[in-house]
Amino acid sequence: RCVGVDVMSSVVIGAGQAGLSASYHLQRLGIEHVVLDADDAPGGAWQHRWDALTMRDVHRVAELPDNPPPVHDGRRANQAVPASFGDYERRHRLPVLRPVRVTRVTDSDGLLIVHADDADRPTRTIVNATGTWTHPFIPHYPGMETFVGEQLHTVDYPGPEHFRGKRVLVVGGGASAVQFIGALAPITDTLWVTRREPVWRTDDFTPEAGRAAVALVEQRVARGLPPASVVSVTGLALRDQERAAERLGAYDRRRPMFSSIEPDGVRWPDGSFEFVDVILWATGFRPAVAHLAPLQLRGPGGGIQLDNHGRGTAAVRDPRVQLVGYGPSASTIGANRAGRVAARGVARYLTDHAEIPD
Ligand code: FAD
Repeated sequence: RCVGVDVMSSVVIGAGQAGLSASYHLQRLGIEHVVLDADDAPGGAWQHRWDALTMRDVHRVAELPDNPPPVHDGRRANQAVPASFGDYERRHRLPVLRPVRVTRVTDSDGLLIVHADDADRPTRTIVNATGTWTHPFIPHYPGMETFVGEQLHTVDYPGPEHFRGKRVLVVGGGASAVQFIGALAPITDTLWVTRREPVWRTDDFTPEAGRAAVALVEQRVARGLPPASVVSVTGLALRDQERAAERLGAYDRRRPMFSSIEPDGVRWPDGSFEFVDVILWATGFRPAVAHLAPLQLRGPGGGIQLDNHGRGTAAVRDPRVQLVGYGPSASTIGANRAGRVAARGVARYLTDHAEIPD
């Protein structure tokens, strides 16, 4: 199943923002590579985001090297960002193949073999850019399988109209939960539960605050712990879109986590109970890296340790592997920058391990 006999210099896995940035920089460095992407169309995870999300709701989402910044108007983000990424791929002639899903990456005599649903590709390095969207996280609570109402995760969010007139429990303390409540409280009866007290940002989101948030995730990754989401450590803020929900007191009705789920609602340790029709789990994502398991990159802490004290993109356990859009670079700004760091890391590895003919 190997494609030809040629060994690639690099294979980029994933063509979201992080993968496209890496491909652009690999191309500039003259490193021949291919980008394998599981989706049918350009746009990374943005093509799957809900219809109600507009370009006004998102910040600097489509930053890519050598690309004009996107216009933040009322267009749907799930159309505008994919259109812009598709245009970028064509303009820079990036070597993207899709739909091609990578199932696992193995090691064979010092070469990496990227096993995909179309073929197996031997390569000297990989840049993993598979994001988190395909790996939604829902915590387990006793009784959750007995619930007769509807349970949805952020990945399934169909927009506010679907919930009109229902009693909706939003679970989670991140930006997605805040946005969902903003959209739902005016047309539904919402309840909000979070594991920890939400941390509200009172000041504007400054570059210093952004760097401090990224530094927290770097420290975790440097220690080989599973990364926290960068977006989760920046603190929460209400935007104009959420003011109506705020006036209705929707953010004040927050409660700590319940302890169990029953067929028609949720129960807290003190015995109190709330009836709900829908549980919306805005409980985040985990890095989609299961296909890298054969390489045994995870340390005892459960995370993949990255070089340069967590600021780099090379896996400490295997410098042939770069991870972008992972840990500290799992943000729109970080993913764009990490592509460049990763391409340089690939170049360095190839130079240091150049085969010298006899
Ligand atoms: P993605 O855009 O997810 O792209 C990954 C690509 O990899 C996809 O095209 C997918 O098809 C492909 N892929 C996955 N698995 C495989 C496989 N096995 N084989 C082949 N291809 C594969 N960041 C911010 O900075 N600010 C925000 O406000 C913000 N909001 C967010 C809201 C949500 C709901 C989510 C989920 C994320 C948010 N982020 C935010 C994070 C940000 O969107 C991403 O970190 C950033 O866009 C970089 O994306 P990416 O390229 O790493 O991944």
